Amino acid sequence: MKISKTLFIVSLSMISTSFIGFAQDKETELPPEATEFYEPVPPKVKAGEATNTAPSDAKILFDGSNLSAWVNEKDGSNPTWNIEENILTVNPGTGGIKTKENFGDMQLHLEWRSPSEIQGDGQGRGNSGVIIMEKYEVQILDSYENETYTNGQAASIYKQSPPLANVTKAPGEWNTYDIIFTAPRFNQNGMLLSPAKITVLHNGVLVQNNYTLRGPTEYIGIPNYTKHEEKLPIHLQDHGNPVSFRNIWVRELN
Ligand code: MG
Repeated sequence: MKISKTLFIVSLSMISTSFIGFAQDKETELPPEATEFYEPVPPKVKAGEATNTAPSDAKILFDGSNLSAWVNEKDGSNPTWNIEENILTVNPGTGGIKTKENFGDMQLHLEWRSPSEIQGDGQGRGNSGVIIMEKYEVQILDSYENETYTNGQAASIYKQSPPLANVTKAPGEWNTYDIIFTAPRFNQNGMLLSPAKITVLHNGVLVQNNYTLRGPTEYIGIPNYTKHEEKLPIHLQDHGNPVSFRNIWVRELN
């Protein structure tokens, strides 16, 4: 008890200089007010009607109507993925799409569905991906009774971390991803200060628990960090399969 109290006082002195007086005198009994903060005030956010609808402060990236938030990932042109009945579907061979806006730390929600008609197997079946900062891929794959390397199945951090569970729904059924991402930090000389971290819920189930990424996604070879911008686009992958999406929104975390 005494040890924890000392640590507590030390950490308080780091939070606010106004408490240094308490920190210097260990015998002083702390008033309750010493551990009560009033600022910053958390902003009010109205929750969505259901967990998969966007909260009031989210940026809507796709609501079913258009792709105005997106460009073709290769050449920056308007994407030619298909929108039908408010559902976005990869137009295979036309290239991935990426957000016009750049994002760093974020909470990202999206829903995806692999084709109901099964074609191909392994990595060739319902493959797409959410490539955060155009570098860090959360795999999208039809992993419903479809064997592949576990660190390449749905909800894996591709080629790095298999999911804690396979929560993939049957082909043609909708899956949700809720992703909490912390971007890596670099100093001005390019040295890595802190690696990227990611938490993923797949259909509400925790599948990546604050995983520390080893570097950007590499198909071949060992991942390695190199300095990059603080914010970069979110990229949805065209891997040649007509995977569908709906309800994509993001909350920037500062
Ligand atoms: Mg992929």
